[in-house]
Amino acid sequence: MSHELTIEPLGRTIEVEDGQTVLDAALRAGIFLPHACGQGYCGTCKVTVTDGEVDHGRASNFALMDYEREEGLCLACCATLESDAVLEAEIEVDEDARDIPVRDFHGTVSRIESLTPTILGLWIRLDGGDTIDFQAGQYINLQLPSDIGVRAFSLANPPSASGEIELNIRIVPGGAGTGWIHRSLKVGDRIGLTGPYGRFFVHKSAGVPSLFMAGGSGLSSPRSMILDLLEEGSPHPITLVYGARNRAELYHHDEFVALAQRHPQFTYVPALSGEPEDSDWTGFRGHVHEAAKAHFDNDFRGRKAYLCGPPLMIEACIAALMQGRLFERDIYTEKFFSAADAQQVRSPLFKRL
Ligand SMILES: Cc1cc2nc3c(=O)[nH]c(=O)nc-3n(C[C@H](O)[C@H](O)[C@H](O)COP(=O)(O)OP(=O)(O)OC[C@H]3O[C@@H](n4cnc5c(N)ncnc54)[C@H](O)[C@@H]3O)c2cc1C
Repeated sequence: MSHELTIEPLGRTIEVEDGQTVLDAALRAGIFLPHACGQGYCGTCKVTVTDGEVDHGRASNFALMDYEREEGLCLACCATLESDAVLEAEIEVDEDARDIPVRDFHGTVSRIESLTPTILGLWIRLDGGDTIDFQAGQYINLQLPSDIGVRAFSLANPPSASGEIELNIRIVPGGAGTGWIHRSLKVGDRIGLTGPYGRFFVHKSAGVPSLFMAGGSGLSSPRSMILDLLEEGSPHPITLVYGARNRAELYHHDEFVALAQRHPQFTYVPALSGEPEDSDWTGFRGHVHEAAKAHFDNDFRGRKAYLCGPPLMIEACIAALMQGRLFERDIYTEKFFSAADAQQVRSPLFKRL
């Protein structure tokens, strides 16, 4: 059984299956609705239902307050239809965005590597020579055992290498999904995934320098975006400021050092926040936002910044960038929301997310 959903202001009507979320149906039909966590934690996918009935599913009470439910709002990533419906969404048109319909994929784990003591590299070869079309910076939902569900992971490989995807997965203390991946997943196991998701990509048409700021496993998207830009021969300056706690947690380090040597337009600034004082580390000591402030002498004007990682790191980076005179319109973020963020309020500094 299915219901019809009309999405305004596009005026397009799509079929939504019983139990299928509004967001899933829209993305599979190639209609982009804003979204971020896909799990009902963040509220980015809030839309107004102007006609019809929805079930709010597992939308968190913090991301969708009671009064908002009464006013007809819902989270598209959790809402399922109980009747035919009409919704009104704010759909931004962006000339750099590609609306790639979401698909289901199956593959086999082809490689697992410890990148750091807490981050695992996971490679999945897609079945039958299949490839996933995506924009560098986007993510997929990995299908974990049914008692865990799906978890989002950013694609670390560039779009040119789309038959075998690479994910960088940090184990979260008490985390069901990352715990299972780190402890139980093996080379040769079959796994399903859907994607591509997200609106995190390089705004190439602007033709300005790019600044990537990442922490922990947040390096995955920037790696894909930087490799893509360098493969294309982008002439504009690219800077990566990457933060980890200590030398052992710094991964893909040698690769970025080599890329910086090969490509004069690429600069790599690694920063360690908890490296022992007596170690031989000669790079920056401190957090990502502090390293960026020092590198750019606190002046970020004239560039676009792409921030990827845990919400707290992103908050600190946004504050630093705005103090360094970069406008909100030039800052793009991919927050690695998890269940722990379900009860947190969004940044008062930043209107867009
Ligand atoms: C767009 C996007 C891209 C991402 N990309 C990556 C990536 O490339 N690499 C990566 O490592 N991660 C990435 N993440 C994060 C990843 O999807 C997982 O959410 C995260 O790793 C935790 O999953 P988990 O199942 O291990 O933890 P969960 O079981 O979901 O728990 C997470 C934390 O919350 C706590 N918790 C559980 N339930 C609750 C509750 N009800 N209230 C409060 N706290 C709770 C747990 O104890 C744990 O500490 C991404 C997330 C998003 C949204």
